Amino acid sequence: MNALAATNRNFRHAARLLGLDSKIEKSLLIPFREIKVECTIPKDDGTLVSYVGFRVQHDNARGPMKGGIRYHPEVDPDEVNALAQLMTWKTAVADIPYGGAKGGIGCNPKDLSNSELERLTRVFTQKIHDLIGIHTDVPAPDMGTNAQTMAWILDEYSKFHGHSPAIVTGKPIDLGGSLGRDAATGRGVVYATEALLAEHGKSIRDLTFVIQGFGNVGSWAAKLIHERGGRIIAVSDITGAVRNSNGIDITDLLSHKESTGSLKGFHGGEAMDPNELLVHDCDVLIPCALGGVLNRENAADVRAKFIIEAANHPTDPEADEILSKKGVIILPDIYANAGGVTVSYFEWVQNIQGFMWDEDKVNEELRRYMTRAFQNVKNMCKSHDCSLRMGAFTLGVNRVARATLLRGWEA
Ligand code: NAD
Repeated sequence: MNALAATNRNFRHAARLLGLDSKIEKSLLIPFREIKVECTIPKDDGTLVSYVGFRVQHDNARGPMKGGIRYHPEVDPDEVNALAQLMTWKTAVADIPYGGAKGGIGCNPKDLSNSELERLTRVFTQKIHDLIGIHTDVPAPDMGTNAQTMAWILDEYSKFHGHSPAIVTGKPIDLGGSLGRDAATGRGVVYATEALLAEHGKSIRDLTFVIQGFGNVGSWAAKLIHERGGRIIAVSDITGAVRNSNGIDITDLLSHKESTGSLKGFHGGEAMDPNELLVHDCDVLIPCALGGVLNRENAADVRAKFIIEAANHPTDPEADEILSKKGVIILPDIYANAGGVTVSYFEWVQNIQGFMWDEDKVNEELRRYMTRAFQNVKNMCKSHDCSLRMGAFTLGVNRVARATLLRGWEA
């Protein structure tokens, strides 16, 4: 099942649990605006090349729309649509005053030079500058984009609208980025894990962990779990997987990755088949890489007791059903990985205030938001006698529906 079908299915299930009126259900599902633009740039050799850029602005009932911009050869309007919708529910679950959006350009950033990427980003910004805005739609980095991409968008947007640091988040610190943003998604995953485990009378230091993906999210989550005394017994990235039943020394693994660029050749454990990683015996499994990795082929073999969805939609709906029947507790993506967008919100607040917070304040506020959101999700689970996924969906959808109704329907 593709990402859009899975997201729509979860939304419809939540709408049924909430008893939403069909008119409002339909209005919440249809995106506010879908933008498709052609971006032509001269390559370094002088030839012209064209790309298609997308921005789906899903909903703005609770505030400016918020979501990443990805550069990827397979940027597909359906997936962008699903991710924009997920952002609407995610910002509502975290209770930050935003709606949801997502965008991208169908290109392979690895095939473009730095100056070509800069030209492409500037042309894309020129095409959409009057449809985004500090109080309209605030982009952020995603797959294939980074703080530098945000700096170019800021600069290009500011040519039309004056100096506007709050137009994007995930910026370099020197241009108004927030301290703690880099670690925020992984840190939020760890705060979410602590809240869930506490509910079950457990703590990180007593448990074993398996982590798929060792990029931004996976490496920060691993580092913070390791610091808290959790035993990480297997880790993978695109180059391979490593395991050590006594616990991998994550500080050593981070140095190895920094010097070699991958996990391959790490001596602090033995290499393992990456396909085995997701079904490795452990207490907590944290997928931090791709969507759809837990599916009907492997779900029955999963041995973890808890799954923390740090990646976006790592669990297919079929796998969700199989895992729930097995009693596996799944902390859903729209809550578990909301730490990134929460600190993006803090970045936007700091830019609007013109005042920079220190990192301790950022982390302390992030913990407060993640812990409060967990309690809110649990309350919805109790009211609707449902899973954590449906608890999160009903929480998010209900908040957006309430805001929509309060704003009224009159044109
Ligand atoms: P990243 O590009 O920094 O890291 C991705 C990691 O996954 C890399 O280590 C890569 O080697 C690994 N990987 C790729 N294919 C793999 C495979 N087949 N098997 C094992 N590992 C594989 O990306 P990221 O920013 O860490 O994002 C990871 C996930 O978290 C994505 O699903 C993303 O959408 C989601 N997410 C990220 C953020 C954020 O702030 N970065 C926020 C919310 C959600």
